[in-house]
Amino acid sequence: MHVDQALTVDRERLQSDLERLVAIPSIAFEGYPREPLDEAADLVEELLRDARAAQIQRVDVPGEAPTLVADFPGAGPTVLLYSHYDVQPAPADGWETDPFTPTVKDGRVYGRGAADDKSGIVAHLAALRAFDGAPPVHVKLVVEGSEENGRQALLGVVDEQPDLLRADVMVIADNGNWKVGEPTLSQTLRGHGKLVVTLRTLDGALHSGHFGGAAPDALLALNRLIATLHNDDGSVAVQGLQDGDWDGTEWPEPDFRRQARVLDGVALVGSGAISDRVWARHAISVLGLDAPPVEGAGNIVIPEARAKIAVRVPPGADPVQSLAAVERHVRANVPWGARIDVVVEPASTPIALPALPEAERALEQAFGKPVARMGSGGSVPLVAKLRAAYPDASFVLWGAQDSDLARIHAANESVDLGEIAGIALAEALLLKELSST
Ligand SMILES: [Zn+2]
Repeated sequence: MHVDQALTVDRERLQSDLERLVAIPSIAFEGYPREPLDEAADLVEELLRDARAAQIQRVDVPGEAPTLVADFPGAGPTVLLYSHYDVQPAPADGWETDPFTPTVKDGRVYGRGAADDKSGIVAHLAALRAFDGAPPVHVKLVVEGSEENGRQALLGVVDEQPDLLRADVMVIADNGNWKVGEPTLSQTLRGHGKLVVTLRTLDGALHSGHFGGAAPDALLALNRLIATLHNDDGSVAVQGLQDGDWDGTEWPEPDFRRQARVLDGVALVGSGAISDRVWARHAISVLGLDAPPVEGAGNIVIPEARAKIAVRVPPGADPVQSLAAVERHVRANVPWGARIDVVVEPASTPIALPALPEAERALEQAFGKPVARMGSGGSVPLVAKLRAAYPDASFVLWGAQDSDLARIHAANESVDLGEIAGIALAEALLLKELSST
């Protein structure tokens, strides 16, 4: 790839860096060994040194894999480039190749973490190598090791060492184009809240042969209650939720069906434009249900049942009000006078990110196509934290994890090498653009 005469991305190097990283099973979850995380951190440090970082700081947080912060001095604004080296677990089920043996097929590298988010690390490195490690602006390259487990030690680093991560522009390379070759900026993130609903109907379990037919079953009551959350077409039936309209790119239905891997003959839920449904309106789902497992289920009328209900909150809506509306709805729709208990968990606030024109120009130039503006489901806690700590910073959410084929968090995760090269070039062009503003 060679758009700007002065800027080239070394694709072979990019691929070999990626393969070395993917070969390390750096899983930061309970029950997995610590050594691969340290091995991955060591390799990232080696790659940063090799990319001519002037200074590398290893931030240790007890119990978590270290965060690496590399400094590349330069004039003008400070740009932070973010990625993470920890990966999701890779249960053997469904994998066609070994998840930790990087395998190249049709221009894609298969392996756990190839896309999420080791592609981000190598894109950043390639962008810095395009300047021989001497970028035209000040760059802080941040690679953390506890993103996937939800503990995200980096969020604590923001509180303890705010100057370490302070920057004018934050580039989060943990997203992707909506299709391979279609440059995409994520401009909004939906907020997220949860309610745990418990229904009680009886003082204890009953023999269903003696009492079934008249004794109220709590699991049935809960199922009836959950069913009231949606209309017949699957649209949300809760009153008082503030929905909006999507003004970015439309997500065509055939693409959505393919990308969401909806089975043939199964209808989508909701109504209206797909983009409105997934980025501008509330969505409600059931994340978990406490019920006796089918295996070993006894002949009883169930006295108590519990569900965890998740609410996605679009930009423009207040998550506290949205969760209050859902709570009002469930309390008002309890069948048979069952006793109800509702615990509302703290919600994250939806985010709308103002566009950064330099980023849009850089991305358009790198891919040679106009940029699509889409919503995103990831990086919410990180972006929320950084926005609160550095209110004047601009944010750029992009990456090489295309929404079409990358299958992040699932079996057969992969990344298109051209996508990484495109994002690396976009980052190099962005650094150059920012140096002249
Ligand atoms: Zn990620």
